[in-house]
Amino acid sequence: MTYLRCSAADCGAALELHDRSLACPKCGDLLEVVIEPRFYSACDLKNIWRGRRASGDPRDISGVWRFREFLPEYPLDRVVTMAEGNTPRLRARRTAAWSGVRELWFKHLGWNPTGSFKDLGMTAGITEANFVGARAVACASTGNTAASLAAYAARAGLAARVYLPMGQASNNKLAQALDFGAQVVQIEGSFDDALDALLSAGDPDLYFLNSINPFRIEGQKTAMFELLEQFEWRAPDYVVVPGGNLGNSSSFGKAFAELKTQGFIDRVPRLIVVQAAGANPFARLWESHSKQLTPVAAPDTVATAIRIGNPRSWRKALRGVEFTGGMVIDVTDEEIGEAKAIIGRDGIGCEPASAATLAGIKKLAAAGQLDPHAVVAAVLTGHALKDTDYIIRSQTRPSEEVPGAHAR
Ligand SMILES: *Cc1c(COP(=O)(O)O)cnc(C)c1O
Ligand SMILES: [Zn+2]
Repeated sequence: MTYLRCSAADCGAALELHDRSLACPKCGDLLEVVIEPRFYSACDLKNIWRGRRASGDPRDISGVWRFREFLPEYPLDRVVTMAEGNTPRLRARRTAAWSGVRELWFKHLGWNPTGSFKDLGMTAGITEANFVGARAVACASTGNTAASLAAYAARAGLAARVYLPMGQASNNKLAQALDFGAQVVQIEGSFDDALDALLSAGDPDLYFLNSINPFRIEGQKTAMFELLEQFEWRAPDYVVVPGGNLGNSSSFGKAFAELKTQGFIDRVPRLIVVQAAGANPFARLWESHSKQLTPVAAPDTVATAIRIGNPRSWRKALRGVEFTGGMVIDVTDEEIGEAKAIIGRDGIGCEPASAATLAGIKKLAAAGQLDPHAVVAAVLTGHALKDTDYIIRSQTRPSEEVPGAHAR
């Protein structure tokens, strides 16, 4: 049986799978989906998943629903999918040399339909919204969740409303949300204020799709199923991911726990979460061994996708980091900028938040905290075209460097 359970270790509250509660009715903590594995062995499932790559079923073409034995079950006609997932694992030799590790791979989740990993969670979240009969969906967002929600809602024929912190989402992301027909509400303040505004609006007709929604976490965890399949089920030593609201980190921890428990892998990668120094409540918690997260009141970083002061999923993420023997660190905007330029020069490119991973790897390698012979997989969360203003701003050089060129 698949059902919802409170994510607090000592609570034990359980709910029916399609209950629309956002939090545990007993203690208020976040909910999570519990998957009871369905009758195949790990060995059989590995073959079935690989075989689906040759199939024309829309669920098999999806890099999320291909792994549906570990997802809630839906009738085929309810699944809202756009062939998300199926993103490559890229070896980055020059970038590796720059960062000080021998074997570095990028898992580029920015190469999804709307250009970020949010599509992996959104296909699952919108499918659930569709299944329970929602008419309208909403989220607060730093931009990418809004773009993804708008697109998948449009595919499902649902009305979409997105709350953005005014003047903080990049124009590219705002343009996507508008292009896909979402109603955009700009909120004075930060992402955290936008999320508070949406939650306190408490509109019962809106189906809520921030990453506290446990179905989004289920979709996002499949990124690690796909990555481990690409590694032939031999886990890399480290998986490195940027941390904002910490939904993605939580989902990766859940994936590793499930794959280990069900015998798909015999050891788990260590999960390293990298935050921006100006929005680093989780890194501070880790550093101080604290049991309670202290929010950052005015988060500030050029990496707008992780400009979040009060990450809602920190308890889930912490569990994943601890279970895998990982760690949490932060990097400055300057370090993010350098790393982003290197990823660009390698012909790959990403948005600033994604480059926090590489900046973190370089920082850890320089400090002797990463074995230089380790196999490292860094997750790139968003496409280079997600924040073109940042690139133009940071790459513009004085005209005298280029003979005959005009200053921009
Ligand atoms: C949403 C997002 C993040 C942060 O993910 P969380 O799940 O909020 O930690 C990082 N990078 C990009 C590009 C994003 O869109
Ligand atoms: Zn509870």
